Amino acid sequence: MDWIAWDTMIKSKQEGGLGFRDIQCFNDALLAKLSWRMLESPSCLLARVLKGKYCHDQDFMQVSAPSSCSHGWRGILIGRDLLKEQLGWAIGNGEKVLAWDDAWLSLIAPVRPMGPTPEHQSSLKVAELISTETKEWNGQMIENHFPLLRDKILSIKTSKWGGEDKQIWLRHKSGSYTTKTGYYTAVERKQITPEQNPRNSSDWLPEIWKLTTSPKLKLFIWKIKHRALPVGDRLEARQVLSGTKCIHCESHESISHLFFQCPYALKVWELVPFSGGFNPMPLNDFDLEWKRLLRTVVLPPIGLGNAILAPWIIWAIWKARNQKLFQNRTFSAQETVTKAICDAKEWATAQVPVKICEQRRKIQPNRSTTEITCKSDAAWRKDLQAAGLAWSFYRNQKERFSSHDQPVAFVNSSLMAEGLALRAAMEQAVALQMRRVVFESDSLPLVTAIADGSSFSDLHGILSDIYLLSISFDFVSFSFCRRETLCFEDSAAKNSLSNFVLTQTIEPVLV
Ligand SMILES: [Zn+2]
Repeated sequence: MDWIAWDTMIKSKQEGGLGFRDIQCFNDALLAKLSWRMLESPSCLLARVLKGKYCHDQDFMQVSAPSSCSHGWRGILIGRDLLKEQLGWAIGNGEKVLAWDDAWLSLIAPVRPMGPTPEHQSSLKVAELISTETKEWNGQMIENHFPLLRDKILSIKTSKWGGEDKQIWLRHKSGSYTTKTGYYTAVERKQITPEQNPRNSSDWLPEIWKLTTSPKLKLFIWKIKHRALPVGDRLEARQVLSGTKCIHCESHESISHLFFQCPYALKVWELVPFSGGFNPMPLNDFDLEWKRLLRTVVLPPIGLGNAILAPWIIWAIWKARNQKLFQNRTFSAQETVTKAICDAKEWATAQVPVKICEQRRKIQPNRSTTEITCKSDAAWRKDLQAAGLAWSFYRNQKERFSSHDQPVAFVNSSLMAEGLALRAAMEQAVALQMRRVVFESDSLPLVTAIADGSSFSDLHGILSDIYLLSISFDFVSFSFCRRETLCFEDSAAKNSLSNFVLTQTIEPVLV
C-alpha cells in the first residue's frame, strides 16, 4: 500500500520529502550536461559531429528539432532547452554580448534590459558601452542607453586586457553547469508546488533530519509526521480495517492517542527522566507534542552524549504496541522506558566520534631573493558598495620600496575588492617592467581560484585579466598569506576607503 505520495517523496528533505530523484527530471539534467559540454568546448569531436549533422546554418542554441530527427538528437535538444533557461553572460570585453537581447545584467538570474529594443539598436554590443581608451565603462554611453541600470552595470567589472565574455550557468556561483543544480531547475520547471504538502508547518531539518539519532528513527518520525503509520484511525480512513481499538485501553486509536494520550503512554512519559518532566497535553496533535519534546532535557546520569532520548521512547512505545498486538507479549511501562534508554545508550556508544581534519591548501612558491614580493589588500564597505585597494612592492621580502592605494566605487563583494587590488598591483608591476614577482594576498578563495583555474562568475573579467597579465612576467606566483603580514596594506586600504567615503559625502560625484 502506498502511504505517502510520490510527489512528496521526491521533495528535498527540507521540504518534507525524502529527496528521491524524479527520473524524468534527472534525465533532463544529464542531457543538459551534454549540451553544456558542446557549449563549453565547441571544438570537441562530439560537438563537431552533431553540429555538422544538425546545425548547418543555425546556431546550436537556436536550432529546433525537425520532425524526422533521431531520438538522440531530440533528447539533446530537451537538455539544451533546460540549459537555455538559466544561461547568462559574464562580461569580459563585451564583444560577444548583445546589450538588449542577451542576459548579462545578473549572475544569478537571466536578466536583460527591460522594454522593447529601440530602433537601430538591436545589434548594440556591450563592448560599445566600454571606453576604448580606459577599457572601463563609458559613463556617458550608459547614461544615454541605460540610465536606470547605471549602478547595476557599473558594478560589473569588465576585463581591461581583452578577456573574452563567457557564457555561464546562473544556478552555480562558479558559472559552470552541474547536474545537481540542473536537476533542481528541472524539478522547479515541473512546478511541484508546496500546497500538495499537507504538513508544511514543520521545520523538517531541525525536527528530524538534523537530530542526533539513528537514521531508522528519523525515517520513523518522518512517517509519523506524514501520518503514514498503520494505526486504527489511519486504517479506517483508508478502508483497510474498521473498528480497530487501542490495544492498551480499547479507545479509538490515533497517532496522538497511541504515543501521547493513551494511559499507557502517559505512564511511560512519566517514567522518563526528563528535567522538569514531560506531560502530554490532552488536545495536542503529534506535531505539537514533538516540538515540545525536542525542547526537553534529559537528567543525568543517563549518559547519552548528544543523542536525544525522545525518538527512542516513541519507537519503544510502537514496538510495545506491536508485540502485544501480534505476539500477545506485554511489556510494562517501566520495561518500555528501560528498553528505550538501553537502545539509545547502545547507539550513542557505537557512534565513533568523527574527526574533523582540516587540511588547508598551501600554495607556497619557491622563493629566491631576485624576486620582488607584492602584497595587496582591500577594504570593503557593504553599505556603500565601495572599496579601498592598496598594494606595495618589497625587495628581499622585507624592504618596501613602493606603495600605492586607490578607491573604487560599485564593488559588490569583498572578494571582488581583493581581486581588483591584485589586478591593480599586477598592472603596475607590468608597467614598471618587473620580471619576477610573487603576489601575496590574504584572500584564500582568490588565490585558490587562480591556482586551480576555477572561477567565480562575478570575478570573470578580473580573473581573465589576472591570467592575461601573468603572461607578461618571466616568473609569477600567487600565494596566500596571513592577514597579520599585511598590516601596512590593510591600513592603507582602509585609509583610502575612508577618504573616499568622506569626499563622496561632501560632494556628489558625477560619472
Ligand atoms: Zn490507549
